[in-house]
Amino acid sequence: MINISKDMIKSYALENATKHDGKANQGAVLAGLFAEGLEKSDIKEIIPTIKKIIQEVNNMSKSKQRKLLEESAFEISKREIREGLKELPNAKMGKVVMRMAPFPSGPLHIGNVRTMILNDEYVEMYKGKLLIVMDDTIGSDEKRIEPEAYKLIEDAVRWLGINFDKKIIYKSDRLEKYYAYAEEMLKKGYLYVCSCDREIMHDLKSKGIACSCRILPPEIQMERWKKMFNAKVGSMVVRLKTDMLDSDPAFRDRVMFKISDNPHPRTGTKFRVYPSMEFSWGIDDHLLGSTHILRGVDHYMSTRVQNFIRGIFGWENPESIYNGHFAIEGVKISKSGATKKIKSGEYVGWNDPRTWSVQSLRDRGIKKEAIREFILGLGMRKTNITAPVESLYILNRKLLEDAPRYFFVESPTKITISGCPYLIAEIPFHPNGKLGTRKYETTQEFLIPKKDFDLMENGNYRLMHLLNFKSDTINIMSPRTFSFISEEPDNNLKTKFLQWLPATPDNIDVEVMMPDGNIIKGKGEFALAELKVGSIIQFERFGFVRLHKKEKEKLEFWFAHR
Ligand SMILES: [Zn+2]
Repeated sequence: MINISKDMIKSYALENATKHDGKANQGAVLAGLFAEGLEKSDIKEIIPTIKKIIQEVNNMSKSKQRKLLEESAFEISKREIREGLKELPNAKMGKVVMRMAPFPSGPLHIGNVRTMILNDEYVEMYKGKLLIVMDDTIGSDEKRIEPEAYKLIEDAVRWLGINFDKKIIYKSDRLEKYYAYAEEMLKKGYLYVCSCDREIMHDLKSKGIACSCRILPPEIQMERWKKMFNAKVGSMVVRLKTDMLDSDPAFRDRVMFKISDNPHPRTGTKFRVYPSMEFSWGIDDHLLGSTHILRGVDHYMSTRVQNFIRGIFGWENPESIYNGHFAIEGVKISKSGATKKIKSGEYVGWNDPRTWSVQSLRDRGIKKEAIREFILGLGMRKTNITAPVESLYILNRKLLEDAPRYFFVESPTKITISGCPYLIAEIPFHPNGKLGTRKYETTQEFLIPKKDFDLMENGNYRLMHLLNFKSDTINIMSPRTFSFISEEPDNNLKTKFLQWLPATPDNIDVEVMMPDGNIIKGKGEFALAELKVGSIIQFERFGFVRLHKKEKEKLEFWFAHR
């Protein structure tokens, strides 16, 4: 049962139309409906209704669209899941400062870009400022900083067209600032250096009992803090004095600094004492002037701790706006898993399609405009979203409508069509006629995909744009024969369409890397030789691909989608 009402479809169509010069886009509307709970299996059933409604909306005047949207917007916002962006609380035009804080453990993937794009849109909306802060204090043994990630993140942000403020900020450059605030807090008794065993401390915290380190006077705390810089890893931590009887045991006296001997990719072994993310942000959101923070719903605790720290200094708190988790149906993303496979050589690199990194999407021919529209279609919401990747492809396909079309035959099998005239076929690169044509000289020998050959039955077939022929066989043991019928398309023949190439040595070896890492091999037409790396084209009856690598004897494409 589909739980999507016509009103809902109409609201999304109106919303999208008003944003795009009066014309709603089916992919964007679908993306919005997925966020409303539309199931992939329902698409077939609901698509005629959606098409009808979009057509209806697109035929309205823009003023009527706006008027109807205003009337229906209540319905959407009531559900707190409306497409597009809600106003930020207490945001003043020109005064909004937001920040994004990638942890450099790998490239940004499709899941990470949601926050990036939402931040970018908000800053644009309020004419504010967006900071990029590499959250690279030290990480942990499970979550290590990957030196290459810095550049990959920066490249992805630039490619996506995220408009950020001048220079990227590195937490690892700011350790001495955190130390200074820590010392001030130690002297005033807000922090203490704890040398208790972790297990024991956990037990004490759960019982609401303070450890003996907590009550030592500030002078001793300062001495212990100085000792910490030469102490053994794990022997001491700095804790924030909260309330040992707080209703949430996890909030009680959390760790603010720890010792690590892991060399840092940027600062090496210069520092050994590192702040927690909570501590650094408690300080930095004040120093950097953040006014609004978009964060995941699992960050309520961080917000509370950071606000507690700012409370000590009497600083104002930024507004935190929470977003549910975002996942893509059928796509498993594991940064640490990908890192291992890249290092072992199983993946071709950080752009391997199986990483779902921004680089991988770019190299497959997914346009940044499609990614942005896909993300915005999902909107802001506290509940978790799982969107099918197909809705991204729908948006991308729309952008690639005018891509030139070429012939490619997967695992080619040669057939000979008897009685076939030698032809010179002039075939346009695109049915719109704007991209010119190329000529094929054909004989009686053609290449067709092995898959199609294996499924052939007795009956009529058409080589796309070229000719009709008959496929025949007397019995299963005798070889299949093919005979020419005619050139012009003929509905009476009830032909099945086949992709083909003339069987000539001019064809080029082509490999296509699929999103699952599989490589499909075949032959492509000679005209492909003129393409430049980065060109996005369509292989007819196969799908959209981007030229990844050109070798003397071979072209390597990466597959975008059908
Ligand atoms: Zn202690």
